[in-house]
Amino acid sequence: MKLVVLGAAGRMGRTLVKVVSETEGAALHAALERSGSPALGSDAGMLAGIGEAGVTITDDVDAALDGADGIVDFTVPAVSADIAKRAAERSLVHVIGTTGFEAEANDAILAAADAGATIVKSGNMSLGVNLLAVLVEQAARALGPEAFDIEVLEMHHRHKVDAPSGTALLLGEAAATGRGIALADRSVRVRDGITGPREQGTIGFATLRGGSVVGEHSVILAGEGERIELSHAAGDRTIFARGAIKAALWAKEKPAGLYSMRDVLGLAG
Ligand code: NAP
Repeated sequence: MKLVVLGAAGRMGRTLVKVVSETEGAALHAALERSGSPALGSDAGMLAGIGEAGVTITDDVDAALDGADGIVDFTVPAVSADIAKRAAERSLVHVIGTTGFEAEANDAILAAADAGATIVKSGNMSLGVNLLAVLVEQAARALGPEAFDIEVLEMHHRHKVDAPSGTALLLGEAAATGRGIALADRSVRVRDGITGPREQGTIGFATLRGGSVVGEHSVILAGEGERIELSHAAGDRTIFARGAIKAALWAKEKPAGLYSMRDVLGLAG
């Protein structure tokens, strides 16, 4: 499968270039960066630390997509939304790991999936976190809001620009599904000052940022006299890249539409 890595000079982009080179059935077709990026003209493999790949980083989107089967994209929401439209025009696979989407960009992704792109989008591409989400959903269903409060705690490196993390929101969604509520109506994303007592049935978020932490998440179900914690720690970005390439290979055989990592991993209920 001929893959285009979008954001090829980024933390995830470099990891993707490396993992593509190690994955049977996947090949690096092109590597894209934004116009003006200092990485333009560099060899994508050299930048990823795997030696020459023979693919020069470019900002020419049309040339990069010509002859490609799919795009793997860990960039920023506005870019992902624009590329999804182009993926629809060309009936391509588009794997979106980007996080921090607002409604407008999310709507654009949905429209692209309707218009012919095969999109896999997830705030976390790792097997472990997607399994954790299944467990969180079960726990939230079993432990009702009268007896247990749910809080999602996350920590990431100092460069991360969105909060709560896409993974924290994914886990919050899983908890909300288990409780049969809409996360948007019942989430408490920040607390500051005299907040009053905790409102029953809400799902709280707490965000920590610092150093080089790749990603740590805990979902805490706190009751009277007992507490359950379901946690995941990512030690290496490779887990996300492997998941993303697996998603691309899986999506190649699927009709256009919007899929999640739970679909890819066979964890969908
Ligand atoms: P990063 O290092 O900042 O990488 C993003 C890259 O995209 C940068 O090189 C950036 O270039 C580039 N870019 C910006 N605009 C572009 C454009 N128009 N065309 C092509 N490339 C463009 O960030 P990261 O740590 O790799 O994370 C990227 C995203 O993935 C974030 O949203 C993060 O939360 C998410 N993420 C998701 C998962 C998951 O499993 N779903 C895991 C890890 C990270 P400049 O820096 O030059 O602007």
